[in-house]
Amino acid sequence: MIHDIAIIGAGPAGAMAASKLDELGVDYILLDKAEFPRNKPCAGVLSPKIHSLVQIPEEVIDRKLVGYRVHGPPDAIVESKFPEPGCIVQRSIFDNYLIERLKTKPVINQASEIKDEGEHYLIKGRTEDIKARFIIGADGTGSIARKFIGSKSSKIAISAQYEFSLDEEKVSQRVGNWFEVFYLMEYGYGWLSPMKDGMKIGIGILADKKPDIWGMLDKFLDNSLIRPKIHQATLINKEAHSIPMSGPLDTLSSGRILLTGDAGGFVYPGTGEGIYYAMKSGQIAAELAYENLANQTNLDDEYNKRLEAAGLLSLRDADFIEKNLASPEHAERYIKKLKFLASRS
Ligand SMILES: Cc1cc2nc3c(=O)[nH]c(=O)nc-3n(C[C@H](O)[C@H](O)[C@H](O)COP(=O)(O)OP(=O)(O)OC[C@H]3O[C@@H](n4cnc5c(N)ncnc54)[C@H](O)[C@@H]3O)c2cc1C
Repeated sequence: MIHDIAIIGAGPAGAMAASKLDELGVDYILLDKAEFPRNKPCAGVLSPKIHSLVQIPEEVIDRKLVGYRVHGPPDAIVESKFPEPGCIVQRSIFDNYLIERLKTKPVINQASEIKDEGEHYLIKGRTEDIKARFIIGADGTGSIARKFIGSKSSKIAISAQYEFSLDEEKVSQRVGNWFEVFYLMEYGYGWLSPMKDGMKIGIGILADKKPDIWGMLDKFLDNSLIRPKIHQATLINKEAHSIPMSGPLDTLSSGRILLTGDAGGFVYPGTGEGIYYAMKSGQIAAELAYENLANQTNLDDEYNKRLEAAGLLSLRDADFIEKNLASPEHAERYIKKLKFLASRS
């Protein structure tokens, strides 16, 4: 059987692409190497723009989010309150919710290679091979689809995160419903994400600086801004993962393949926010794939045009970290800029 569209990866990018194809009534196959529900290392922060893409039921929300609080040298704090609340989720629950809404559930299969066979592509899979006319690459930072296209992310951060459990009341008193970002280290930053009855605390540092990531995270926990917040908290999980840090790749398509989400670098380098951008790029890619099956257009131009119109190409900033966070002096200048912007909004 030859499918119209194969979506590799059923995270937020792949699930949103599939949801759009459900709406359009297109035949597709969605594959993921993991069985859902599955976890994804993440702070789970969703700014309010997520509500334009999906309705999130109360039971999927772990904690409401009122805004961002940014800390930087010397002792500056910039608060940016959202016009309406966002939310914080556990990824195992949120990603599974996105899958549950679909008409076609994901098939457990790990793609290992893609071959161009003319009219269709052959996806070599661990459990079975798949044929499809069009591919949406939604397979995260280690994307097989991206490797096939030959595109590369110019900057990657290594990140590590601890999850603590702590009494709900103490989390509310010590952090409240704010996502906190800390521009206090060179070539990267730290964060604290309050959960219902716990917190996730992590750091991300440019991979080419070869950071001792767990050593740096332990040092971050000892910071006077963090230590009191985790007093009497219990460490329950630790996880590490990579984050694309230069925004959308220069090459996001080839033939009849489109890259979405982390596979295409759709992450804001200033905070590591990627879920909304993964979902939005997945939605745009699905619409375009659908149209392209009937009427072949210049895929590359059209994808870029639509991403630009949705504001996703403004995430492209290959030197964000070097420009703003290479040293305490850079961070101080950047914080001043954020303060100025916050005062005008
Ligand atoms: C520590 C950390 C904290 C973060 N915090 C936030 C945050 O608070 N808010 C936010 O918005 N973003 C955050 N991000 C970024 C966010 O997690 C990603 O941008 C987002 O998950 C991207 O979604 P995606 O669907 O593109 O990829 P993923 O969520 O990575 O999904 C990819 C899917 O593809 C599957 N897959 C991979 N390879 C294959 C294969 N070969 N074959 C089949 N299936 C495959 C995987 O199993 C996975 O299910 C964080 C990232 C990290 C690392």
